[in-house]
Amino acid sequence: MEMARVIVDVPSKDTDRPFDYLIPERLRPWVEVGSRVGVPFGHRTLQGFVVSLHPRPEMDYAKMKPIQEVLDFAPPLSPALIKLSEWMKERYACRQITALQSMLPTALKGKAERYITLGNPDEDNSGPEDGLFAVLPENEVGQAVLDFVKQRGEVTLEQVNRAFPNDSDQIKALLARGLLLEHQQIKDKLQKKTMKAVELAVEVAEAQEALASFPAKAQRQKEVLAYIIEMESFLPIAMKEVLSALGVTAGTVKALADKGYIRIEDMEVFRDPYKGRDFKPSEPLVLTQEQQKVYSRIVYKLDERRHSVFLLHGVTGSGKTEIYLQSIQRCLEQERQAIVLVPEISLTPQMVERFKGRFGDLVAVMHSRLSDGERYDEWRKIHEGRASVVVGARSAIFAPFDRLGLIIMDEEHETSYKQEETPKYHARDVAIRRASETGAAVILGSATPSLESYHAARSQFQEDFAPELLEMPTRALGNRLPEVTIVDMREELKEGNRSMFSRLLHEAIAIRLERGEQTVLLLNRRGYSTFVMCRSCGYVAGCPECDISLTYHQKSNNLRCHYCGYAHQAPEVCPDCGSEHIRYFGTGTQRVEEELAKLFPGIRVIRMDVDTTTEKGSHEKLLKQFRDKKADVLLGTQMVAKGLDFPDVTLVGVITADSALNLPDFRAAEKTFQLLTQVAGRAGRHQLPGEVVIQSYTPEHYSIIHASGHDYLTFVKDELKHRKALHYPPYCRLILVTLSHEQLPLLVRLAENYAADLKGRADRRGWFGSLDRFAADALDVLGPVASPIPRLKNRYRFQCMIKWRGTMDAVSLVRQVAEELQDSVRDTKLQISIDVDPQMLM
Ligand code: ADP
Ligand code: ZN
Ligand code: ZN
Repeated sequence: MEMARVIVDVPSKDTDRPFDYLIPERLRPWVEVGSRVGVPFGHRTLQGFVVSLHPRPEMDYAKMKPIQEVLDFAPPLSPALIKLSEWMKERYACRQITALQSMLPTALKGKAERYITLGNPDEDNSGPEDGLFAVLPENEVGQAVLDFVKQRGEVTLEQVNRAFPNDSDQIKALLARGLLLEHQQIKDKLQKKTMKAVELAVEVAEAQEALASFPAKAQRQKEVLAYIIEMESFLPIAMKEVLSALGVTAGTVKALADKGYIRIEDMEVFRDPYKGRDFKPSEPLVLTQEQQKVYSRIVYKLDERRHSVFLLHGVTGSGKTEIYLQSIQRCLEQERQAIVLVPEISLTPQMVERFKGRFGDLVAVMHSRLSDGERYDEWRKIHEGRASVVVGARSAIFAPFDRLGLIIMDEEHETSYKQEETPKYHARDVAIRRASETGAAVILGSATPSLESYHAARSQFQEDFAPELLEMPTRALGNRLPEVTIVDMREELKEGNRSMFSRLLHEAIAIRLERGEQTVLLLNRRGYSTFVMCRSCGYVAGCPECDISLTYHQKSNNLRCHYCGYAHQAPEVCPDCGSEHIRYFGTGTQRVEEELAKLFPGIRVIRMDVDTTTEKGSHEKLLKQFRDKKADVLLGTQMVAKGLDFPDVTLVGVITADSALNLPDFRAAEKTFQLLTQVAGRAGRHQLPGEVVIQSYTPEHYSIIHASGHDYLTFVKDELKHRKALHYPPYCRLILVTLSHEQLPLLVRLAENYAADLKGRADRRGWFGSLDRFAADALDVLGPVASPIPRLKNRYRFQCMIKWRGTMDAVSLVRQVAEELQDSVRDTKLQISIDVDPQMLM
């Protein structure tokens, strides 16, 4: 093949298509579909990805430019991933390059770098009439610049600019005259970590012979050589190892290398983020009957090697993880690879240990708390085939496997599987798509499946998403689900209890303290005030750029906007009325902690929230402390609800169950139910029986009642009635279009134009109308209305919600109308964002 189509690294409408490049002879062996290349584009050099290869066309190739360089020996992307990016582009209305970039670790997102070298003065062919001629290299500054570059050989523009900050004209002149040459090159953001290593350069027998005839004065060298021979089966070994074992200097080792007996080389070091941690090896468990039934269905499909999707609905503690592990085992025996997706927050060392314990070094781990370097190393382990299983958060769905056999998505209902930045993909949809292309099986597991997945499994109505439902209603260890009590907090108040703890929860904690058992307390953080309010006039400190209240940070005593980063010193008196009664509410968890200390003097509390877990590894440290029984209570936000498994936890308390129920989000009830079910599952997982206390101001709400009865099915039936009546997923799909601009009146007009245009176009295609209508294709446009956060970073925001149902391509119409609006107003200040199947409506 002599020609490549390349998607370049510029996320814009005009560049969102492949461009043609010639493949020069010397690069031909290296260019493949998925290769990362440097290509000339206009006056720049850009990074790009090869998406297809073609024979040289008959005509037009004179104009075609050649690929300049290939950036990796092995293509970082595969043809399958390239194909997936094409699908993502249509599915999520994003640019293909944005999809491609999301598949790679940050370290590989090279930027083009410019550097300068000395030019060849002989090629200076500008005439004396040239205005630039005035700046000769004989000129003092010009000469100094040339000397500067000559000394260094290669400098970046930045370096020259810094050395000669006021002489940019001179530098430009030197460039224009060809006395300096500019080059561009794409450099990876990250260097591979290397280490000096020692290896024998000759056969062992030859080295042993040499040893016998070594001159006496080279005694130290002889020792080194003897040692290296002795270590033969471990070679290459780290240079520093040799030095410290024998107490010799690097010079001694180098001398041996100079004599040709050994080699010293820079070897790549693989950073292992789990280094120094021993993983207890684990053997497969004998499956329970319930597990066996589920497992045999999965194996049956795995052995067929045809694409299939399972929805594994198993209560907390039903032993889903063991199913995952044994399915992976099967997949590995077929010489295929597996991806395990876990919500970021549940990707704890405990979780990793379960996989590493079973599959050891075959497991790579990817999550956002890894440094760029660590992430890159894990990625390479996969890419180079040293790992066959990856356990990771959302983006691990793009792991560069080439024989993918199984994708597991644990806690499939978690909203964190949806990426909120572009590309706004949902890992579940990507997983199913990827698996269908490669004949892999998908297991979606949860104790509380999303309504979308559960409905799809029960109805079997969607062609591209009809999971087989597998149920595990009992716990693997045979213990019962914990007893749940709901406490009506309104009654507590009526009877004079103003504390945030009901009498029941108070007493239950006291009993745990007495018995030396542990308690987990959950606070639904979103319902709690972290803002600053004046109790005299009601003033609330808000961000001047965004229409939301500022958050108080105790440590730095300032107020911060969590959206734009605006920060301000916390005021002593109310800026509005001058009152001193301005009150700082700590984070919700801080307040609970204070109250606990008051009620139970000496109680040991570990608080886990955004404030205490910002540092790398702190999450893990806190959990370990709790496990080691260094505390009586683990108090926290959603973080404590997931994946934790502590034998001595016998009480779980939910401070306010309903604080998220009133949010303007049609999934509020579902999220509340999921959270309560999850947290209730934390208690009594082992020998000791568990108790759960849920405090609520609306104890009659069906999400709270059904969660307390561990009754998923009844909750689903109730919730689906609401969804159907109000036309929400799973009975239709949503697209959220958000328009933003600095000027409000203009924005309102543009948003109205957008909605009207979209309605008109849909109408002409026969789609538009109420979803009540019995029609295959229906599309409804709601709005425009101000967004829930009406102003962000000084930009006003309006949104349209599109509800649609049917087989038509609604996404592409929504996108097309947006692009046409953008083209017609030619106002770069207008931004339009499209979120297909949005999860966050706040
Ligand atoms: P889930 O992921 O469904 O919440 P887990 O996989 O954490 O459940 O299993 C709960 C507990 O049951 C764990 O302690 C696990 O070791 C144990 N377990 C699971 N399957 C078996 C089995 N077949 N035999 C014995 N113990 C099991
Ligand atoms: Zn005031
Ligand atoms: Zn702000």
